[in-house]
Amino acid sequence: MPIYEFSCGDCERSFEELVRSADAVKEVACPTCGSHRVRRKISLFAASVNPGRATTGGSTAASCAPGGA
Ligand SMILES: [Zn+2]
Repeated sequence: MPIYEFSCGDCERSFEELVRSADAVKEVACPTCGSHRVRRKISLFAASVNPGRATTGGSTAASCAPGGA
């Protein structure tokens, strides 16, 4: 299950929320003020799982030296 980072549109507070489905995103509320005016930001989860071996995405890793040394 992906963890998304949200930014509240009312109090500008950033927080992380575990979202089970796309439909659950609409039900995410700000833990600080309870507002539903939250914006989903880019997930930091996928980027920190396998830093040495990126299997997801296609053109993000451009610095791939031959040999690996
Ligand atoms: Zn808020």
